[in-house]
Formats: sequence, C-alpha cells, structure tokens
Amino acid sequence: MQRINQVFIDGALVTPHGTELFDLYNPAKAEVIGQVQLADATDAERAIAAAKRAFPTFSRSSKESRIALLRRMAAQVRARVDDLTEALVTEYGAPVSRAGWMAHHAVNVLEDAANVLENYSFTYRAGTADVIMTPLGVAGLITPWNSNAGFICGKLAAALAAGCTAVVKPSEMSAIQTQIVMEALSAADIPQGVVNIVTGRGEVVGAVLSSHPDIAKVSFTGSSAVGKGILKAGAETFKRITLELGGKSPVVVLDDADLNVAVDQALQAGFTNSGQACIAGTRILVPEHMATDFAARVKNAVASIQSGDPHDPQTQIGPMVSQKQWERVQRYIRLGQEEGATLLTGGEGRPDGTDNGWFVKPTVFADVHNDMTIAREEIFGPVLSIITYKTEEDAIRIANDTLYGLQAYVLSSDVARAQRVANQLEAGRVAINGAPHEPAAPFGGFKQSGIGREYGKNGMEAFLEPKAVLVPR
Ligand code: NAD
Repeated sequence: MQRINQVFIDGALVTPHGTELFDLYNPAKAEVIGQVQLADATDAERAIAAAKRAFPTFSRSSKESRIALLRRMAAQVRARVDDLTEALVTEYGAPVSRAGWMAHHAVNVLEDAANVLENYSFTYRAGTADVIMTPLGVAGLITPWNSNAGFICGKLAAALAAGCTAVVKPSEMSAIQTQIVMEALSAADIPQGVVNIVTGRGEVVGAVLSSHPDIAKVSFTGSSAVGKGILKAGAETFKRITLELGGKSPVVVLDDADLNVAVDQALQAGFTNSGQACIAGTRILVPEHMATDFAARVKNAVASIQSGDPHDPQTQIGPMVSQKQWERVQRYIRLGQEEGATLLTGGEGRPDGTDNGWFVKPTVFADVHNDMTIAREEIFGPVLSIITYKTEEDAIRIANDTLYGLQAYVLSSDVARAQRVANQLEAGRVAINGAPHEPAAPFGGFKQSGIGREYGKNGMEAFLEPKAVLVPR
C-alpha cells in the first residue's frame, strides 16, 4: 500500500493541510493499492499565494533562463520515465506499450516548449506600435486522470515558457503519477513558488482555482460538464480560460482507401488508450457499398486484439480506470442494442480470462445512425460505431453533425483528396492516414470540444496577453 501525503508548495514538498484520504486503485485487479491525503482549500490558497509572490520576478526572467529551466525539468522527468511508465500501468491500466509512450510524452512536452521559446520573439511591430506579449499572471492548471503526467508537464511547460507562475490541480485518481512528477520537479531547481502542485477534489481545490481573484488564467482538460462550470466560475473575474474537452471523432474512410490498412488504422484510432482518449475515433464512416466487407474485416481484426493484463507487452486494451467508468461503458453497450444498432463484436460483460478488473470487451456496432445516443455522446471506452454514407458530401455532413470538434481522421489512398476532405471537417485537428502527433501544431477543439489551443506557439500564447505601446514615430 502506497501512502501519498505530499503537496508541492512554494518550492517544498510538504504535508497538506487537508486530511481527507482518497483510495487509489489498480483497475486491472479492482483493488486498492494506496491512499492519497488530499489537499484542501487552505492548501490551494497557500499555493496561489506562493505563485503570486513568485510572479513579479519570474515574469521578468530572461527567455534563456526559462529555456534552461524547462530543459532541467525535462531532464528530471526523463530520469523518472520508468517509474512513470509503471505508475501509468498500475494506477490507470494503460497497456505497457502505450504507457511508455505516454511517460516519454511528459518529457517531450517540456522539451517542445523550450524549442518554441528558442524561436519566439515576445515583441513585434504593428505599424507604429510596439506589441509586447506579456505573461498573464498566476495560472491554474487542472488535469484529468488519463495521461495525467503528460497534461501536468504540458500545461506547466506552456505556462512557464510564457513567464506565468502556476498552481496545478491534478486528478486525484492519478496521485502516484503526480507524486513522481512532483519529486522530479522538486529536483529541477525551479525558482521558489513558480510551480505548485496540489492534488485535491475538483469541487474543493479545482473550485478555488477557477474562482480565485488572484488566478488570471485557467487551463483545464477534462469533461464538458466540468468545463462549463469552470467557464461560469471564471466569468466573475473575467479569467482567460482554455478548455480541452470531450470528443466524438469521425474516422472518414474514403472509397479509394485500402481496406486492409483502413481497418487497422480505424481500430487504432478508436481503441487508443483503451478508448479512454478524448481524440478516440469512435464514429467510423464507411461508403455504403463497402460496409459489409469493412464490417467483416473489423470483426476479424477485433478477434485478434488482446485485452487484459496491462503489464503484458502484447496487450492492446487495458481496463477502464474505475468501476464507475466500467458501468458507464456497459450502459452505453446496452443502449446501443436497445437503439437498434447491430452488435458486430464485443458486448456487455468482461472479456474471457479477466474475472477481476474493470475490463470491457472491445465492442463495435454496425448499422449505426448518427442520431443514436452511442454516436452522439462520448463513451470513453472501447466502443465504436460504423456509420455508412453514400457520397463524399454525405460523409462530410455526417462527420460534422456532432456537438464536438476535437479530432477527425481521413483514410484514403489519395492524400490530396484526403486533404480536400480534411479542409471541410469541423475539427481542431485532422489526421490523414495515421499521421502521428505533431508537437509544433496547435491542438484543441472546435464547437463544444473546447476553447483555445495547446501545444506549440499557440499553446504558449494562451498564457500571454498582447500589449500595444503606441510610439510617436
Ligand atoms: P473531469 O472533468 O471529471 O475531471 C477533470 C479535472 O477536473 C479533475 O482534476 C477533477 O478533479 C477536476 N474537477 C472536477 N470538478 C471540478 C470543479 N467543480 N471545479 C474545478 N475542477 C473540477 O474529467 P475526467 O473524468 O478526469 O477526464 C475525462 C474527460 O476528459 C473526458 O471527457 C475527456 O474527453 C476529457 N479529456 C479531454 C482532453 C482534451 O485534450 N480535449 C484530453 C483528455 C481528456
């Protein structure tokens, strides 16, 4: 049993003022593996005060010193990549092959921000005016349980690159990852008070961050429901707010796609992170005349997907993070059948050989209409819908017929055609033929998938305010 009883405030790892204990689980075994002592509102206030004290000096620090700081932070997190990988597997159930990538991602986002800073100029001319990109102030950074370490490091990287100081409120469900990140960062020689990390309940610590007058900026990744509350809470003090919310991403399979490749890429997009990914491609749009063939190939391919022990390097799909999440996914699987979709593969219950643990059968529905609940709501589990279309125009219309707009995928043997389709999709990011994540490119949602962008130059500018100084010239 691991007992975590530290927060990182004003440059020191200290015991929180809060006393509530929160159980941590291994989702692959559905058993308690530790407890975290949660921060409370007093801890949040202390963290904000420390960040506020640190801001005047840090906001004026040189670009070079911040580049060096980000690289020191990256080096310390890199030294803990193996521990982070293990934490991702045990406390979140990420398959080990994926967990390694996620742990390295936490390092890469810090390096990427240093690279952005190297090429960034904080001043430019606009006519006769000098424009100065000015750090906003103290940033409140609120992260979800999926890829918690990556989100903590990514949001911190952008905030610090801009010259903001920060208070992070990570998900209480991923406290082991957070502990490792805190230990790493406490060895990175960060100026006192610039980074503060307080794990507590959303409705306690998160609520303080999103309403506090000394917080100038909130960057939140999580569910749409909580994001809406944060936007409302921030309105009182006109906070600058970045929201990275949910998705219901379309995978548009064009009629010239090689089906062997397309099936594989569609399933990768859909089942990434065991389906617990905001960017999961959950609506697979297939030309009507290819649907039977496509479905048969999907059924075959899913039969050979290994779900189970996330420590096994062959495992592609791990458990859901919690019992609540498992039950939620089961409900959607029942609902899909009730709504008249055809259960192509998977279904309710656990996969064979996984008696304990919150495992879900990789599930694909065919004959789904885009107005069914399973095609409209984010399920956050390995449950995919195949929807047919008649023409390319029809495909684009269906793809865009959603409240969300985070990510989309286009699969085609003609990249130029795929680009033309991509240009018509309402999504913050479109990946063609399995193209990988590009750290320099902005990431964020159209429509109800969010507000603002992360990563690259846009990500850093979300922590900056332009100031125009009018000069008589
Ligand atoms: P969640 O919204 O329940 O929680 C996210 C964070 O908000 C947690 O730290 C939580 O403690 C905190 N929180 C909860 N109530 C709060 C409140 N009242 N005030 C302030 N903070 C509060 O989300 P989750 O279940 O942890 O994560 C899953 C969701 O995150 C999914 O909807 C997924 O799509 C979304 N997500 C989006 C992205 C993206 O980049 N767009 C990435 C990953 C996950």
